Amino acid sequence: MVRVKFYGGTEEVGNVRVTLEYAGKTLCLDYGSKQDHEDDDQAFPKSDFVVVSHAHLDHVGNLPYSQRLNPNTRYIGTEMTKRITEYQLNDILKINERKKKEGVPDGTPPGRQFTLDDILAIKSGWLSTDYNSPVRVGDFDVKLVNAGHIPGSAITEVTCGSDRIVYTGDINLEGNLQKELPGLGSLQKNPRALIIESTYGKESREPMDKQEQTFIQYVNEAISKGKNVFVPAFAIERMQRVGNLLSQIRDDHPEYEFYMVSPSYLKIKDMAYRDVDLSNLTESAGLPDGYKGHKSIVVSTSGFCTGGISRKILREVITDKNYTIIVPSGFLPENSPLKSAIDTGYAEFSDKNGAKVKKAVRAEIKQVKLSAHSDKEGLIKIVETVCPDKTTQIYLVHGEPSSQAVLTQELVSRGYQVRTPKKYEEFSV
Ligand SMILES: [Zn+2]
Ligand SMILES: [Zn+2]
Repeated sequence: MVRVKFYGGTEEVGNVRVTLEYAGKTLCLDYGSKQDHEDDDQAFPKSDFVVVSHAHLDHVGNLPYSQRLNPNTRYIGTEMTKRITEYQLNDILKINERKKKEGVPDGTPPGRQFTLDDILAIKSGWLSTDYNSPVRVGDFDVKLVNAGHIPGSAITEVTCGSDRIVYTGDINLEGNLQKELPGLGSLQKNPRALIIESTYGKESREPMDKQEQTFIQYVNEAISKGKNVFVPAFAIERMQRVGNLLSQIRDDHPEYEFYMVSPSYLKIKDMAYRDVDLSNLTESAGLPDGYKGHKSIVVSTSGFCTGGISRKILREVITDKNYTIIVPSGFLPENSPLKSAIDTGYAEFSDKNGAKVKKAVRAEIKQVKLSAHSDKEGLIKIVETVCPDKTTQIYLVHGEPSSQAVLTQELVSRGYQVRTPKKYEEFSV
């Protein structure tokens, strides 16, 4: 028997931490964070092993805290996930150190601050694992299978004696930019439990190639009106996907400059996207001076404009009617100024002292759902493929309650047993 306990990722997108207890050891599936750090200390389990599904911060952001709680923790994930995770954690460290120098609080609770030593300890405790090559840690047999979400991303299959549990991590049935599809066929069918993400559990999306056409159409429309274009995007997968599309139309518009601006994008591209040729775009770590002196298309991080170069650009261009802002994401969190801009017509920024500043939106804002997640139909198909006998207990994580409600209804109507665990709920599997 395995005890499954949900410490995070319950009725929320990201922030995943789910433990499996078996034969006196604890294995945690992901060790994520969320931007507002609102979790208290009991939401962070002491683990012997952490299986890392992929390197997005909502899955790895609190790994250093896991390391603090148990310095002997072993980490299991692909080599690509290890490399991107190391970069991501170093990036947070740099940002936090810069804020410290500027006297700006970084929001991390004091106990959860970390140092370079913590990152190095995670690196040395990491067991790099290839897809479809099971490893044994304690009495857990762990197999990783491609999840098609971002480079290195994995579905986790854990076998404990005669019990099997599958955790999808973030999963994209349509595959990633490099056309890697989830390896559902490599999983043993009908596990005891399937823990599945539900980010887009209530949404049906057009296929990726349709969304991509829409993106190009929006850019071309803006250009035909002589407008500038700003695209805030994530450093992993999204910027490369957007760049790949822009690269195809770049030569049609010699009067425009096409910028890909982000230090993290450049680093990630070097690690995971060497085969994606974007040489006809201008790539740089910082925004070139005078980018406003001519017509331009600028793609930069962060994707939600909550920080980085995107936030600076958004503050400047949101009030400019000569700009089209294309948001290549279907999901926007509450703290994103893009969310308030779309919902209310005012973008809300907070200044250094935390005071709110409102700016009336004059730029045109368009949204394209270039998602790295499966939509509702995709999620249902994953469940039906992995659990054809309908004997599996399904647990929904990584989704807002409204998405989980719709997905639950869909799955129950097909004869599945579905639970949406609450924080700290535990089950025997
Ligand atoms: Zn996630
Ligand atoms: Zn992800």
